[in-house]
Amino acid sequence: MLSPRQLFLLNTAQTSPFPRLLEIERAEGMYLYDHSGKSYMDLVSGFAVSNIGHRHPRVVQAIKDQADKYLHLTVYGEYVQSPQVKFAEKLSSILPDSLSSVYFVNSGAEATEGAMKLAKRFTGRSEIIACKNSYHGSTQGALSLMGNEYYKQAYRPLLPGIRFIEFNELTDLEQISSDTAAIIIETIQGEAGVRVPDAEYMQALRKRCDQTGTLLILDEIQTGFGRTGKLFGFENFNIKPDILLLAKGMGGGMPIGAFISNNEIMSVLKANPILGHITTFGGHPVSCAAGLANLEVILEENLNKDVADKESLFKKYLQHPEIKEIRGKGLMLSIQLSTFSQVEYVSNYCSGKGIIIDWFLHCDTAMRIAPPLIISEEEIKLACKIILEALDSYLP
Ligand code: PLP
Repeated sequence: MLSPRQLFLLNTAQTSPFPRLLEIERAEGMYLYDHSGKSYMDLVSGFAVSNIGHRHPRVVQAIKDQADKYLHLTVYGEYVQSPQVKFAEKLSSILPDSLSSVYFVNSGAEATEGAMKLAKRFTGRSEIIACKNSYHGSTQGALSLMGNEYYKQAYRPLLPGIRFIEFNELTDLEQISSDTAAIIIETIQGEAGVRVPDAEYMQALRKRCDQTGTLLILDEIQTGFGRTGKLFGFENFNIKPDILLLAKGMGGGMPIGAFISNNEIMSVLKANPILGHITTFGGHPVSCAAGLANLEVILEENLNKDVADKESLFKKYLQHPEIKEIRGKGLMLSIQLSTFSQVEYVSNYCSGKGIIIDWFLHCDTAMRIAPPLIISEEEIKLACKIILEALDSYLP
């Protein structure tokens, strides 16, 4: 008989030749547990998803309660489904007034796709600007926006009319013109190895969009839901987007995403032609119920309050001659080393000691630190101790 690991390799499609192959039996709070009972502290939150920790009891209860009422009823946008309505109302109540209309989808990439269509349709323009080293998802439209040729080259032709500018480079903003439907930008670049833009740049970007009638799409799929210490990343820069993209940390571990705008912009999807953007499962009632519970936990427990202090603790404890720089904001951090071999070694060492860390799509010489926001000082201390131990024992 084949083992679960062999069956995984045989029957489950693979995305790389070297999957991690951890066999997890259950997860709770900061930890994953394998069959032998070994615990792993999750320092990446399942890639910026489990912001309130794994299987938060309020989220699990909301899922059970909704499962007892109904699951899928019909395609998105037809019936008045109370989990969608309540979640959308809560989101609009905490977002700026101009972000009042929520279009629920299933994932981050779908949020990107919807936003691209919305911007083209609303402005009547076709050019979209993205940034070098960006990541907005893996579907063909989202892939067309990816600022890294390595991942795109095998899939051409991709979407035409996309122009790339340098992230955080003021002079490149001149390329945004009255032909540009939208610029899509991560509020803090994630897969580039966590690059925080200057507030001056973000404000100049907002201004340039206003001058040219270009919609500003902020991708907060990684930076949302408290990760940077603010509820949403744009609050760090004193700007507001025209379209906001959310996913990942939105569902408390359930699949959901959204693109959010004002009612005037969003209304273009409903006419000429009707059904301008449709999805069967978008805003699934169980995901929306989980998402609402997740958001209530963040707000009621004020989970983003201590995030800046926790960032400082990581920076305080992670002092080592091999660490070139620690970048980031809040609990979206990147430890810059020198080589991939170092990153791989540290990651494997940490995994052996029960700590999960990872690296980035466009920056494999840096380590990703993005734990659940509930991480304690003791856990930060322990995790940093093991990372330093790993760096001490690395032999090039
Ligand atoms: N945008 C950003 C900034 C992301 O980090 C990701 C995923 O890593 C996506 C979009 C795509 O989200 P998904 O994997 O849910 O399609």
